[in-house]
Amino acid sequence: MSEVHNVIIIGSGPAGLTAALYAARANLSPLVFEGLQPGGQLTITTEVENYPGFEHGILGPELMDIMRKQAQRFGARCEFKIVEKVELSSRPFKIYTSSEEYQTKSVIIATGASAKLLGLPSESEYMGFGVSACATCDGFFFKDQRIIVIGGGDTAMEEANYLTKFGKEVTIVHRRDEFRASKIMLERARKNPKIKFITNTVLEEVIGVNDNGKKKVTAARLKNVKTGETWIHEVEGIFLGIGHKPNTDLFKGQLNLDANGYIITENKSTKTNIEGVFACGDVQDHVYRQAVTAAGSGCMAAIDAERYLESSH
Ligand code: NDP
Repeated sequence: MSEVHNVIIIGSGPAGLTAALYAARANLSPLVFEGLQPGGQLTITTEVENYPGFEHGILGPELMDIMRKQAQRFGARCEFKIVEKVELSSRPFKIYTSSEEYQTKSVIIATGASAKLLGLPSESEYMGFGVSACATCDGFFFKDQRIIVIGGGDTAMEEANYLTKFGKEVTIVHRRDEFRASKIMLERARKNPKIKFITNTVLEEVIGVNDNGKKKVTAARLKNVKTGETWIHEVEGIFLGIGHKPNTDLFKGQLNLDANGYIITENKSTKTNIEGVFACGDVQDHVYRQAVTAAGSGCMAAIDAERYLESSH
């Protein structure tokens, strides 16, 4: 019979790797499947200045390398594999990668969420160099600069409001003239003197320069979808506020998800509707979405799993 693991952690952002650190220190020999984006969303940002303990900031990918090494120091095994299927209806739980089947007594889900992107080649070229999908992470870098925010939902309104703390001008660019955002968030944005709106308009291309090896955004090519007119809008920062998608396709039909697809966890814990299956980080949190809150909930998940394993013996 194949080995039955104590705990398998799916995902390797701050939540997954903190869960790995705590589970390893509890002698549970956790196995981590790193997934499609090893290190998670922080690996697509540059400087992280709001993670406590790093007075002068740290690069996102470097922070994740440190977290991985710290978990490995205590015996966590990290594998660069993608989980393709899970079976949570019988015990031990079964986790499948493309080539193997694994058995485990408990599972910690830390698969995160992905910011939705437009899919433009220029958007990925300048991601982290003027293009961002996280105002709280990157707003600070745009002091006194011109910013556009794409989207017409609550995320776009919230990001635009937040960005007025830094930018000298924030323009919300939305593809329709009706807004999905809640009335209160829309009104707040409308009343903010630093925010302007351009409606019925889409971003066609991010324009930038490579300044001595340093890429930066200089403008956006916008297009009015009603008239077909295109023009160049000078800008230093482009924020995508078109929503996030929790990475929960694997768990549909097995775990309770909310209307937006996020895993539902029990109050003040990381417990899901299946005993022995825990969820932490952005896959169950669409409110705070910070590296430090994800790490905190990863710690909670490891403690919840440890207690579950002790009580089920
Ligand atoms: P939403 O799905 O509500 O809005 C996404 C917005 O992006 C829409 O305006 C949509 O346009 C636009 N959009 C989507 N795809 C594209 C595209 N390819 N090109 C251009 N525009 C695009 O997502 P949110 O993240 O804003 O909100 C998700 C949920 O989270 C909501 O329930 C929201 O209320 C909640 N939330 C709450 C907050 C709070 O209360 N503080 C803060 C943030 C989110 P269109 O309208 O034309 O489809």
